[in-house]
Amino acid sequence: MEATLKPEARRKPILKQEIAFLLIHLLPLGALFTGATLFDWILCGFFYFFRMFWITGGYHRYFAHKSYKTSRWFQFVIAFMAQTSAQKGALWWAAHHRHHHRYSDTPADPHSMKIYGFWYSHVGWIVGPDFKETDYKTIGDYAKYPELVWLNKHYLVAPTTLALVIMALGGIVDGGSITAMFSTAGFSALFIGFFLSTVITYHGTFSINSIMHKFGRQRYQTGDESRNSVWLALLTMGEGWHNNHHYYEVASRQGFFWWEIDVTYYILRGFQAVGLIWELKGVPDHIKFSKDKKHAQELKRQYDQSRPPVAKDERTEKTEENVEAS
Ligand SMILES: [Zn+2]
Ligand SMILES: [Zn+2]
Repeated sequence: MEATLKPEARRKPILKQEIAFLLIHLLPLGALFTGATLFDWILCGFFYFFRMFWITGGYHRYFAHKSYKTSRWFQFVIAFMAQTSAQKGALWWAAHHRHHHRYSDTPADPHSMKIYGFWYSHVGWIVGPDFKETDYKTIGDYAKYPELVWLNKHYLVAPTTLALVIMALGGIVDGGSITAMFSTAGFSALFIGFFLSTVITYHGTFSINSIMHKFGRQRYQTGDESRNSVWLALLTMGEGWHNNHHYYEVASRQGFFWWEIDVTYYILRGFQAVGLIWELKGVPDHIKFSKDKKHAQELKRQYDQSRPPVAKDERTEKTEENVEAS
């Protein structure tokens, strides 16, 4: 726990773990022996975007930033789905991400590319010895739910379930029956539909931690190195608007303007429309159109003054509306 709370001094990487992580990248090569069907490639693409959505909409916008509300049962579904990405437990993920925002691009940031370099900020911090534990204090608002703590501790349950589902799909579609999941049909689906897709999802997610703090444009002065990139926003379903996000992290959308494509946000809006989630937090105008926090305060004063005076009850409504509409 100490290591997570005072991470300025990083211990030496564990070579064995770095090699193990590299070996995961070789697992898809099993397809050289089984072959791969068109269906396996479709599974690979589908489960990349499927899991990317739950990472950004779940691990990130729900657990780390509380950008919307939901029921207790759906919260469990969110955690389970996000964990099919094999990026450890939702509480582990979100607690470290809160540290990242708190100490962004300072020595205490778990993964600052500016300070620790590309390899460390991309994967080194995950496979290294310093961030193995979940800091339950930082994520206390969710650690009070025993089912989430259980899932966090047994973080391989969700990815193993997905791997079996993918093998079963391969067996049914390419092998003609569910029992064929233990034949070539199931294993080729496992190598390409699960393992290759998992590895690509890793690098999609990790690129936000590493290169999104170096390459791209900075619209807002956040005091850190966060950047915006349309290409990464497309690949990561909205996470590429990382400078926007560092500027106003509680928003459920990271593309602040209509042209900033943020597919995760569109899906979250869909979930809201059918009543699965609610109270999506928006981006107030004084934040959206400002350059830095001081400018935002000035704009807020200006906007408040130019607004016609309203009765007290209406004013409360207006504020909520403002949040909803953005
Ligand atoms: Zn960041
Ligand atoms: Zn964040």
